Amino acid sequence: MAVEVAGGPMKGKLVLRNISTLFSGDLANPVLDADTIVAVDGRISAIGRAKDLDTENAVLAVDAKGSALAPGLIDSHCHPAFGDWTPRQNQLGWIESCVHGGVTTFVSAGEVHLPGRPKDRLGVKSLAIAAERAFSNFRPLGAKVLAGAPVPESIMMEEDYAELAQAGVKRIGEIGLGTVNTGPEAKKHVEWARKHGIETIIHTGGPSIPGSNLISRDVVLEADPDVISHINGGHTALPKGCICALCEQGRGAVEIVHNGNERAALIALDAAKGLGILHKVILGTDAPAGSGVQPLGILRTLVFLSSFGGLAAGEAIALATGNTARIRKLEGGLIAPGMPADFVFLDRPQHSAGKTVSEAIELGDIPGIGMVVIDGVVRIARSRNTPPADKVPQIE
Ligand SMILES: [Zn+2]
Repeated sequence: MAVEVAGGPMKGKLVLRNISTLFSGDLANPVLDADTIVAVDGRISAIGRAKDLDTENAVLAVDAKGSALAPGLIDSHCHPAFGDWTPRQNQLGWIESCVHGGVTTFVSAGEVHLPGRPKDRLGVKSLAIAAERAFSNFRPLGAKVLAGAPVPESIMMEEDYAELAQAGVKRIGEIGLGTVNTGPEAKKHVEWARKHGIETIIHTGGPSIPGSNLISRDVVLEADPDVISHINGGHTALPKGCICALCEQGRGAVEIVHNGNERAALIALDAAKGLGILHKVILGTDAPAGSGVQPLGILRTLVFLSSFGGLAAGEAIALATGNTARIRKLEGGLIAPGMPADFVFLDRPQHSAGKTVSEAIELGDIPGIGMVVIDGVVRIARSRNTPPADKVPQIE
């Protein structure tokens, strides 16, 4: 297994030029009128036309060669364990594989697959704190894995959330994967976590694997979490009326995942569009899981929502970047000054019926990734996992 430590951001100036389509990650303005980005010490400092920017004295310059660029993709829902290993499918290197799918930030929805996962109060807290610390120090291909998401158990008390918050835990794992699974109990744990500044999420739909629980519309509404995790089921979805009711009445963000019910994903998307709450829709994979590991899971989900759900390519990308970052309180997800220099170069895949990357996505083709940059550091060149991009950037 490759060993990667947190090496810190690139030092000095990075210039990216000759970008064709610049996806901003901002749903309100998904494509920028610009062809060049300048970053200094791993953060974006300027965006615009090459002729208007100071591009001199770059430590590293990349010629995009006319490929498009988007913010690094964010997976709002994954289940890491330790290292770049998933016990669920006993597979190594899944995080690196996902970086080859354009994902630069991974948000844990609970380290639930750890063999022998502890369920006592001290054990739940210790695992979360250890996972948070371990992934702060371990970054496969530079990926940012935000782990340490304790799964609420009935025996936990308010003071446990206070202690977790003090130890640096920012998010719980999915309510419903542990012993908290009724409306009143879920509500109590959400209130405790929220009081201590910890973000709350809840499994939605039928049980994911034998031993987990159904979480119904009424439980979700009573719990009132910050994120309605996999509103399209993980895998088993609630009926259409319940999905629409959650979009309409739930305060939480609407999360659509790859490892869910695809028909239900379109129902949720349509409901969100109709209600004018597309800014609350975020994307995840819910992997690794029984369905395996999907290195292209976020790309596949955004392409699916664009091609079947009628979103413009830039809007679909914004769900997987700017929306997720804003709702999950992460740095990044936007091409804007001050943001981390996390980028994905992408282009239409070779021989796509789409003439541009946007057209290819809207026609249902997975774009080709030509390069991934994290904190200003070039982490991969042409992806080993996507179809080959027509145009690929070059380091000058
Ligand atoms: Zn779940």
